[in-house]
Amino acid sequence: MKIVETVEELQTIVKEAKRNESVVGFVPTMGFLHEGHISLVEHAQKESDIVVMSIFVNPLQFGPNEDFDRYPRNFERDSRLAKNAGVDILFYPNVKEMYPTEPAMKVIVHEGVDVLCGKSRPGHFDGVATVVLKLFNIVTPDRAYFGMKDAQQVAVIEKMIRDFNIQVTLVGCPTLREEDGLAKSSRNVNLTGEEREEATFIFKSLELARKRITEGERNAASIKDEMTTLLDKNSSGTIDYIDILSYPELKHREQLEGKVIVAIAQQYSKARLIDNIVLDIK
Ligand code: AMP
Repeated sequence: MKIVETVEELQTIVKEAKRNESVVGFVPTMGFLHEGHISLVEHAQKESDIVVMSIFVNPLQFGPNEDFDRYPRNFERDSRLAKNAGVDILFYPNVKEMYPTEPAMKVIVHEGVDVLCGKSRPGHFDGVATVVLKLFNIVTPDRAYFGMKDAQQVAVIEKMIRDFNIQVTLVGCPTLREEDGLAKSSRNVNLTGEEREEATFIFKSLELARKRITEGERNAASIKDEMTTLLDKNSSGTIDYIDILSYPELKHREQLEGKVIVAIAQQYSKARLIDNIVLDIK
């Protein structure tokens, strides 16, 4: 595995690979890797000749009171895990490399950001879209692999690819979970022991929604009420949102039909966790 820290070197390597008609698969991450990230690499490997992973904690997508400084980082461990997973090129730029000058422009996301994390984290998806556009321009991947754990991100990036005619195929990959259902996340290390136990109720609440919908319940409000009660009763975290929306449009529907996302964000003392399931209601 080659570790590359500059845009120029990365572009040179990818250009050479493309001259040989190699299919380039790309896995963008913020590092502190876990099996969820590795599963994206495994998807990429099946469909690409070379797999590029990036590790970059993007300051643009963090709000002023968010956890940019506290975000866990461990490059030595990450590079070992990436190598073992079979990543070919690990792109690890620093902030100066990605933003050498104060950016003169950024991507503004207008649609699908008035709900869920877009609503709670103003400007977050502008920061995400801006860095992903830069990374797409640097890496020029044929295929890019994103986790459905961040389903709103997938919806936003799909629209950016469409609106800006970016020549890349987005592949949304399923969420990897701990045995007790908690979605794997870099931020889980910032939970206390007690919070880690309580956080299992995030997935339990999602499963409750799945059960109700399977049983035939179509009223979003009553499902959300039940989820709120279960989560509130069993954890000390503050619910940021519990919502059920059409997917990928992310619109409220009183009566549920078609593809829907059930999503939760919950704030613990030092970690904000998100999770979701997407269901196809026949
Ligand atoms: P992050 O480093 O948290 O920005 O995540 C990088 C990529 O990994 C994103 O596309 C995430 O959606 C994806 N990802 C994060 N957690 C998981 C998980 N538990 N299962 C699958 N993919 C994940």
